[in-house]
Amino acid sequence: ATPTALLVGTGRGAQLGILIKGPEVLESTRKVDTVVLDKTGTVTTGRMTLLAVHPAHGIGETEVLRLAGALEHASEHPVARAVADGAREKLGELPAPEDFANVPGLGVQGVVEGHAVLVGRERLLDEWAVELPEELRLKKEAAESAGRTVIAVAWDGEARAVLEVADAVKDTSREAIGRLRALGLTPVLLTGDNRAVAASVAREVGIDADQVIAEVLPEDKLDVVKRLQAQGCSVAMVGDGVNDAAALAQADLGLAMGTGTDAAIEAGDLTLVRGDLRAAADAIRLARRTLGTIR
Ligand code: ADP
Ligand code: MG
Repeated sequence: ATPTALLVGTGRGAQLGILIKGPEVLESTRKVDTVVLDKTGTVTTGRMTLLAVHPAHGIGETEVLRLAGALEHASEHPVARAVADGAREKLGELPAPEDFANVPGLGVQGVVEGHAVLVGRERLLDEWAVELPEELRLKKEAAESAGRTVIAVAWDGEARAVLEVADAVKDTSREAIGRLRALGLTPVLLTGDNRAVAASVAREVGIDADQVIAEVLPEDKLDVVKRLQAQGCSVAMVGDGVNDAAALAQADLGLAMGTGTDAAIEAGDLTLVRGDLRAAADAIRLARRTLGTIR
């Protein structure tokens, strides 16, 4: 690479809100044919809101919000923020948990006012052998088929409620995915969220139903990238979360959302400063063009 051409490429990149780690990054853009997109915070805004609380028979909404909100208040996850904010809006101050642990990709667990509380995916409850009663399962299925993320709340060994949260697709995502396709890349949606939600987001942004990989645990995102590479794909990965960092590092080209976590930004080759997915396509096009001029 001649320094001048590189400078032009990166200068224009800065203008477009793209930071490139080093010149060697440009080369990887030539071959990429698959783009793996994290859902939450990358394709969607990641700003979730609490839409509904469905307590089990005999349980009060206030109780559910108090215990779940208190625990989620200690977590930074977008789902946690939705639950904690929703609870505080209704109840004001929440108690401080006596014990708290984050369970990556599953939820949170801890102790609030003497109760052992779980808030998260059904899988988190499974780990503690807590079952969702039929009544809550029906609520869950109905909400999921409407494209909502459903979180279960349990305390003292019993499921007590399900909560509906949702975030919106960024209004630039559909156009961005169209541009990535125009560059010859196949978009794949990768998420820890449930299948129904993932399918509904994919439909909204123009990703094929058979290119949706859902309910993937944080540590398994890396394996998805490896598997695609083993199948002969050259993979670009776009992500924002701590749980995307390993996959970003493994990808042939890692693109981090500048609005995301430091872990993702450190792991990526490129940073999309404004968190606009359209910049992913701009970056690849610009890098390819820069290579064109310096070859
Ligand atoms: P994504 O891959 O879409 O960025 P994550 O891997 O961070 O999502 O989380 C996967 C799923 O785990 C979430 O959709 C949510 O259902 C559940 N989850 C994770 N953290 C929490 C939490 N703090 N509270 C409730 N649910 C959570
Ligand atoms: Mg994310």
